[in-house]
Amino acid sequence: MKYFIGNWKMFGIPKSISILKKINSFYSIDKNRNKYKVIFTPPFTLLESYSQFFKKKYLSIGSQNCYQKDQFSSNTAAISSYMIKKVGAEYTLIGHSDNRAEGDTDVILKDKIKFALKNNLKVVFCIGENKLEKRKNKTFRVLKKQLKKALERKFNKKKIIVAYEPIWSIGTGRTPKAKELNKTIKFIKKVLKNIFKQNSPAVLYGGSVDEVNVKKFKEIDEIDGFLIGGASKSSKKFIDIIKNYYR
Ligand code: PEP
Repeated sequence: MKYFIGNWKMFGIPKSISILKKINSFYSIDKNRNKYKVIFTPPFTLLESYSQFFKKKYLSIGSQNCYQKDQFSSNTAAISSYMIKKVGAEYTLIGHSDNRAEGDTDVILKDKIKFALKNNLKVVFCIGENKLEKRKNKTFRVLKKQLKKALERKFNKKKIIVAYEPIWSIGTGRTPKAKELNKTIKFIKKVLKNIFKQNSPAVLYGGSVDEVNVKKFKEIDEIDGFLIGGASKSSKKFIDIIKNYYR
């Protein structure tokens, strides 16, 4: 199964649902439909209405983050996996570099994953090195640490997807070379196999994916799909990414 996940970040108001309706219409009649899943992560303000609208449709909805506590707490503005699940969402991103930059540590992220799984959300766990770490050849060391510190063998790996998002590639138009990306995804899968002592969960790539460069990425068998930021705000671009991937 491949995944095309659209991360809206701080974008969207109620009527932006028209973008997702167009994508869902394409998805529901696409001949390749059974080969992939389409998931969108709109902001918290839209989670309930969008989740309810797409409940019996093909497209799935998730949140962009969740708080590291179960159910309810006294943390102002915090939103738990329990609350996300109760409004109908099915997935949550965890560990996006934006949130790591705002203070999410490996310990916090592990709690987030634990409570998300407990509340029956599927987790898209984001990892990635920054520019300096890449320049210093520390990419593998950083990725291994991010995976080992936040994931545990006892977590249900069927409910976890890992998204490799090099920070230097997010929103910059810069992407890794195909050969290099292939090696990195293989390495991530090796680490994941070691953690779970069985097959690796799906590993996606994210960072400036668009309808043109997806043609380069489709040659890399190891990639199980994409986490798409900027290009997911346009139904045309998002649909073209899927079309070009299967062309
Ligand atoms: C992201 O923020 O997760 C992302 C991949 O963004 P973009 O596609 O815009 O680089």
